[in-house]
Amino acid sequence: MTVTATAIPMLTDNYSWLLRDTATGTIGIVDPAEAAPAIAAIEAAGGRLDCIFITHHHGDHIDGIPALVERYHPKIIGNAADAHRLPKLDIAVREGDLVTFGAVQAQVFDTPGHTIGHIAYYFPDDGILLPGDTLFSLGCGRLFEGTAADMFGALQKFEPLPDATLVCAGHEYTASNAKFALAQDPSNQALQARAAEITALRAAGQPTLPVTLGQERATNPFLRAETAQAFATLRKAKDNF
Ligand code: ZN
Ligand code: FE
Repeated sequence: MTVTATAIPMLTDNYSWLLRDTATGTIGIVDPAEAAPAIAAIEAAGGRLDCIFITHHHGDHIDGIPALVERYHPKIIGNAADAHRLPKLDIAVREGDLVTFGAVQAQVFDTPGHTIGHIAYYFPDDGILLPGDTLFSLGCGRLFEGTAADMFGALQKFEPLPDATLVCAGHEYTASNAKFALAQDPSNQALQARAAEITALRAAGQPTLPVTLGQERATNPFLRAETAQAFATLRKAKDNF
């Protein structure tokens, strides 16, 4: 395992992630909403920034990029199909592409739903998944542009990934997601245990992420929906919860 992912809190409930390839010292940032907290984390990690990974075009995932580009000149990685509404891309990627990061490679998944051009990155050697606003702990992204069927299909792409995979999502929505999840699945003991852990973590000012995919499979109602229809019903119920 050579890549580590560390949450950088931004705005009120966003997480950007600092990626570090310990074999080569390569540093990447995922979805910087703001420059200042990213710069603080980059400087603490040695003061270099090699690349920025973008999952989608929303301001709370890209607004920090111009100041980081000016200061560090990183390579910008994002969805080729969304290039028209992203900062200027140096590496435009598509589903199935491999992106070199230090000594390892990340796989690109096309994950439409939250937005049409949303993508996720997965580091198979290190078991790190960067789902942006596709998958949250105990929740999933709202459907701003895609359909429920799109999002169901996107989440299904994570099915082959191992239970130990670390989910490094874009928001700290876990406590409010837990309320909805418990309302759906009140007798789920793994979910009850996770809800207690979330309460303790948040009371201590700690992030609830990363979380393992195995933990999410046991507790997240959106991963437990078995059909696109069941998923659509659940997403609608969450929107009105
Ligand atoms: Zn978003
Ligand atoms: Fe977001």
